[in-house]
Amino acid sequence: MTQITVHRILPMAKRFLAKVVASGDAVIDATAGNGNETRYLAELVGDAGCVYAFDVQQEALAATAQKLGPLQSRVKLIHDGHENVLQYVKHPIAAATFNLGYLPYTDTGITTKAQTTIQAINAILQSLKCGGIITVSVYEGHDGGAESSALLAALSQLEQSVVHVARYELINQRNNAPYLLLLEKLK
Ligand code: SAH
Repeated sequence: MTQITVHRILPMAKRFLAKVVASGDAVIDATAGNGNETRYLAELVGDAGCVYAFDVQQEALAATAQKLGPLQSRVKLIHDGHENVLQYVKHPIAAATFNLGYLPYTDTGITTKAQTTIQAINAILQSLKCGGIITVSVYEGHDGGAESSALLAALSQLEQSVVHVARYELINQRNNAPYLLLLEKLK
């Protein structure tokens, strides 16, 4: 089979994370959900590392714990909003990931929201190491694009000598395909 080079959004986010995160690092999954990214990060940080995984839904944290199995020893599951991240994370962080939208296959109606997402990204930028990254997978469908436009407006104002903000997307996908924002802290 041909090797894929142009990756879809979630695999691309994982590739960026794998490039930056090393064994022993502290990292953040700001939207644990079903725990797919939490598990991936737990594998990257190894036994000496730590993943701080946030979700406002207890149900999501339970699903994440189940997905982690024995890897749970590397993860702090935090039942609180990611906007409160600095109350829990005191270490310098190598990377953080967000998956915006709602938890698929549930009907709780709980979705991420522009104001708290932006608050969390600004807070995480403070504790991010130089060369550290934040990946944000953005689904526009859940609220008619409101979170997406507020986020783009806020992030495009970040000082370019401090952080680079890039957008990666496949432009020939049907049905509101997600796009990826990548922030890299420069100093
Ligand atoms: N990466 C996940 C998908 C996450 S879906 C997976 O592998 O399944 C988005 C998640 O963000 C939902 O579980 C929702 O409960 C959570 N969420 C919404 N607002 C939040 C907030 N303010 N802080 C932390 N998590 C939040």
